[in-house]
Amino acid sequence: MKKFFIDPGHGGTDPGAVGNGLQEKDLTLKISKKIRDLLEGYENVEVKLSRENDQTLSLKQRTEMANEWGADFLLSVHINAGGGTGFENFVHTSASNASIAHQNTIHPEIVKLLDFTDRGKKRKNLHMVRESKMPALLTESGFIDNTVDAAKLKKTPYIENIALGHANGIVKAFGLKAKGPEKLMWGKTEFKKGQIGRVTILKPINLWTEDEEGKLQMVRILQPDDQFRVYGFREKHGGQYDVGGGHWVTKMDGYIRYETPSKALLAQSAEVYK
Ligand SMILES: [Zn+2]
Repeated sequence: MKKFFIDPGHGGTDPGAVGNGLQEKDLTLKISKKIRDLLEGYENVEVKLSRENDQTLSLKQRTEMANEWGADFLLSVHINAGGGTGFENFVHTSASNASIAHQNTIHPEIVKLLDFTDRGKKRKNLHMVRESKMPALLTESGFIDNTVDAAKLKKTPYIENIALGHANGIVKAFGLKAKGPEKLMWGKTEFKKGQIGRVTILKPINLWTEDEEGKLQMVRILQPDDQFRVYGFREKHGGQYDVGGGHWVTKMDGYIRYETPSKALLAQSAEVYK
């Protein structure tokens, strides 16, 4: 399990940088929440935000939260101000090798999704990257007091791209694996493509296959409680269920129980496997 602590800069009584009708605290929260949503699409990932809403938190509270939680990585999200333009990010002046490696991986992933000026990978003695016990990075995505940058920051797709760049960088830095599609379940087992039902063995009964001449050959004797997915039915040999892999189970009252899934599950199956 990898634990990512995302810190939306400022909040509550501290708006952060302000300009062009924007407040840094709102933008950092939007970006951070989006990063969380994106990272949650990966396996073995836990994400915690220092704040989920417009809350006042000291820098000390933020790093203590991350340290106590035992995060594997801290990302502090900020928007710049003070007469410049573009994107830059910071590790501490005496950053660990891990912090520097993550900065090297994450920086280009953000830059390539945005048309911000690349101000580079930097080092600075900042609280968030100094007091955190884990590798840490602080990003400054654009200048709120620059009209060109602010115009970009006002667009939701641009904010989403900033978040995507951060998430992609983290995914790459930590080698995260995307979650596979959700399996379609029928009770405790997966409902597979082409499946029409299932058969449960009640009394010992033969499992059949066919030789080249179409003659039945016994594969083995099935035991009570064995369960098979059913993919078809044929009238031959008194009625047989196709249990996949060229194998058949004969329909014999008292020896097997056949069940069909609900209409809802079949409809879902048609949708998932179309
Ligand atoms: Zn800030």
